[in-house]
Amino acid sequence: MEAQKERSMILQKEMVSGLFNELGRAKETGRKVCYTFVPGNLSELIRTFDLLPVYPEINALQSAMRKKSAGYIKEAEKNAHSEDVCTYVKCDVGMMMKGNFGPTGEKIPEPDILLLSYTGCFTFLKWFETLKRLYPNAEVIMIHTPYQEAGKMTPEMTQYMVRQFREEVIPKMEKVTGIKYDEEKLKYHLNLAKEAQDWIAKIFETTKHKPSPIDAYFAGVYYIGPINIGFRGTPEAVEYYKALYEEIMERVRLGLGPITPEGEMKEEKYRLVVEGPPNWTSFREFWKLFYDMGAVIVASSYTKVGGVYDLGWRHDSTRPLESLSEYCMNCYTNLNIPQRIDLLSKCITEYSADGYVTNSIKSCNSFSAGQLGMMREIEDRLEIPVGFIESDLVDPRYFSYSNIKNRLESFFQMLEQRKKIVKTETV
Ligand code: SF4
Repeated sequence: MEAQKERSMILQKEMVSGLFNELGRAKETGRKVCYTFVPGNLSELIRTFDLLPVYPEINALQSAMRKKSAGYIKEAEKNAHSEDVCTYVKCDVGMMMKGNFGPTGEKIPEPDILLLSYTGCFTFLKWFETLKRLYPNAEVIMIHTPYQEAGKMTPEMTQYMVRQFREEVIPKMEKVTGIKYDEEKLKYHLNLAKEAQDWIAKIFETTKHKPSPIDAYFAGVYYIGPINIGFRGTPEAVEYYKALYEEIMERVRLGLGPITPEGEMKEEKYRLVVEGPPNWTSFREFWKLFYDMGAVIVASSYTKVGGVYDLGWRHDSTRPLESLSEYCMNCYTNLNIPQRIDLLSKCITEYSADGYVTNSIKSCNSFSAGQLGMMREIEDRLEIPVGFIESDLVDPRYFSYSNIKNRLESFFQMLEQRKKIVKTETV
């Protein structure tokens, strides 16, 4: 089992280091570089044009985990980026101002393309305006994704996006790369994307088991790594997810709970659903606050930012551009608030969660807007205990360990009390 566990981790490590190596050699190999974002990422199209992707949010969170983000944020603030700006942006901009050395220490090449498939967060627009000033030679490709205001995707919305792909995105990619659009190649990547998505959906469904074999938030953010950094649509990603699924199913067979940084979690006391991104600067301490209490996260919204696959949606190679459009519209940040409530309620019910926690991020307006209302609606609808904590993505100034600990302790007391009441009622 240990050897199998290592296999998926080795595969992931190989993918990540391979990508950063290729980026480091991009100027010498002549590969063009595309900066883009995780929600609504057009990984399959990027691969079709042999572009190398750079994901600024991923660089920011990895800088935070390596304790480098404070310095980068300070650098950005010194250069007039206000305290209220999303800290992913400031960390990224600060990193660029300090020479653009990525988390692995290798220099990240300048972008040839700034590709923005706008999915629900206005900050993305302002972020790329800033990058365009830093890299004036980069081609900006902007695709507008209609928000699911009425809670559904209509054929008109899809056609609106397909037109943008045909008239704006593809011609500009052809111009920058000198490569002609090859729809067969796109279909090849879309088929592989679908295969990976099938495995991902199966992986996150394993938390229905008791005990849950994985933590779908703290470990889940590692699992979604490959699809969120540009490997969706590749054979490597399919191999990774297949290996990961087999390892997890072995844990299910042995009746084992999740692996934490301090080893296997012995007793599963509470099953939770978490809304909101994690804190990256104190990731381990943050996780420990949960596993020390025997709490396992059985589902989280954050693992759905790069795509929602729980409800059956998949890339479809028979409708390539329509499929790319629907993918963008179907990202978590592009869902309206009632859709998010329905999705999270479904997770709570289907994964038998005992409670619901919101981690409200100081500098992420996109996630924070509506979170309190969502929490109250879920509390009323499902009558389960809810908890609310606050932190930040990559700014260590906004992670208060004792504050979060106090709030979580009250929440866990509430959960314990609730369990006693339910037990008495059923006796
Ligand atoms: S505000 Fe939130 S969703 Fe928007 S870019 Fe920043 S972290 Fe991402």
